[in-house]
Amino acid sequence: MKTSAVVNLLIALFIAVPATAQEQGKSITVFTAKKIVTMDPTQPTATAIAVRDGMILGVGSLQDLAPWLKGSMYTINDQFKENVILPGFIDPHMHPMLGAIAFQTVWITPEPWNVMGHKTPATIGEKAYRATLKKAFDSRDPNAPIFMTWGFSSDTHGELSGRLLDDISKDVPILVLQRSLHEAYINTPLLTLLKTKGLNPNKFKDHLQIDWSKNHFWEDGLFSVVLPFMSSFLLDPNAADPGYLKTRDYLTYNGVTTVADMNTGGTNWELEISALKRNLDTPESPIRVRLTPDVMKLAAALKSPEAAMTLVNQMKQHNTDNLVFNGGIKLFADGAMFSQAMQINAPGYIDGHKGEWITQPSSFVEFARSYWNAGYQIHVHTNGDGGAKMVLDTLQELENDKPRADHRFTVEHYGYADDGTSRRIAKLDAQVSANPFYLFDLGDRYAENGLGFDRAARIAPLGGLASRNVPVALHSDFPMAPAEPLFLAWTAMSRETLSGKVFSPSERLTLDQAIRAITIDAAYMIGMENEVGSIEAGKLADFAVLDKDPYEVGMKGLRDIKVWGTVFRGKVHQAKK
Ligand SMILES: [Zn+2]
Ligand SMILES: [Zn+2]
Repeated sequence: MKTSAVVNLLIALFIAVPATAQEQGKSITVFTAKKIVTMDPTQPTATAIAVRDGMILGVGSLQDLAPWLKGSMYTINDQFKENVILPGFIDPHMHPMLGAIAFQTVWITPEPWNVMGHKTPATIGEKAYRATLKKAFDSRDPNAPIFMTWGFSSDTHGELSGRLLDDISKDVPILVLQRSLHEAYINTPLLTLLKTKGLNPNKFKDHLQIDWSKNHFWEDGLFSVVLPFMSSFLLDPNAADPGYLKTRDYLTYNGVTTVADMNTGGTNWELEISALKRNLDTPESPIRVRLTPDVMKLAAALKSPEAAMTLVNQMKQHNTDNLVFNGGIKLFADGAMFSQAMQINAPGYIDGHKGEWITQPSSFVEFARSYWNAGYQIHVHTNGDGGAKMVLDTLQELENDKPRADHRFTVEHYGYADDGTSRRIAKLDAQVSANPFYLFDLGDRYAENGLGFDRAARIAPLGGLASRNVPVALHSDFPMAPAEPLFLAWTAMSRETLSGKVFSPSERLTLDQAIRAITIDAAYMIGMENEVGSIEAGKLADFAVLDKDPYEVGMKGLRDIKVWGTVFRGKVHQAKK
């Protein structure tokens, strides 16, 4: 009775204050919901949020909001009266461009995928991979100039080479992107095509990350030698834009409203920025992108580290509502987790192969130092305990030489590490943005192949960080993992692998830690905790609209929560079915 009396009073107020068309834009919208989980510890739940101009004015019950509504134009939006509202989810490390590229390819992956209801089954074993590849090629789009596939993983898919791809076609160019997107194989027609674009194999004949006998390119051999000659196809607006828009829909489908592009300019600065502007920086786009420039690639492209830093220094001037630079930059240390190219300390990989450096330690230290000294937030891709050691040695040296408060030095991925590494991260005041999907996807396979059970059980070890108060966030690194924050939260909580085994339960996150890791702590990870990540006065009105409260359903129910859509800056966006 009491509530409805207030509503009547509010409706009376609404009638009492007519608005001109101009004022209409400034009027208040009150979103009411069955429950609002704010992620603000001072007021964990609420039932109403007042929003004006995309900003949250107040949170509480409808009654609590009366002071805002008195004398103001407002409308009550109760379309979520059966729903639960959380802060819009934040994916603090993904790749819009790689999503756009992956969506241009045929997926043949070692794990099953479900993207907005479109399912890709797992392909296991060499025979199955080759048969699926042949079938996919035979039913390819005949108008596409290149046949592209993504997902190859030698640990289950066996051998691959340019010659094997020539057996599939001696005329049609074929590109096979490894699951990590840090490796590729091409056939002879594609090599010929790239030569016409200017690739000169002789210039790179001794490159350590290219095997010309297999047309196999990895890390720098892919990023600096092959991709620059492919970016004009891959990022051509006609080819790329549908992929960007699909990535955007996919994020909304999973309740995401803010992402960090954790490698801006890694392939081609101009093409990437213009693609982001066309597809994500529009009034209809419900995704905010925090840009994180790949400063080493920029330095290489501009042929000058100083020119790269000048460009980065000027980025803030170009900020828009949806494309934001706030002082974070990206560096790389060791190789990819999905390629078993991470640097692993003794006793190393069981088969004796060695990890890779994406950036040689000497240049890593040089770049880290210049951006540390200039006050930037440094995000470092590192996957193995050997990679983490080099990165933390560097951080310690930088701290000794020039101590910095609130530096938020961020370890990205944290693929495999021992507890001593977690302890050291706590000591050095660093933070971790982790990919918990590694454990779910790779735990079983790496226990058999590469690391052995004891070390595979410590993939993405987050409990030992959280218990030492290290800020932890969860990311998809999409397309490395599904961009489904609730699923990522479930993997970090359950530590279940694909086969249903539980690995190192002591490294689990609690429910609250896991939900924080996709909301407020994810915002903190990318320096945006004052704007997003919780539902509080003064923050942007970004919400994820769910059918159930994660805190009520707990770990077991997390994966089954359905996302209705999002609210972005106060505007409602229903997920596309
Ligand atoms: Zn990475
Ligand atoms: Zn990444």
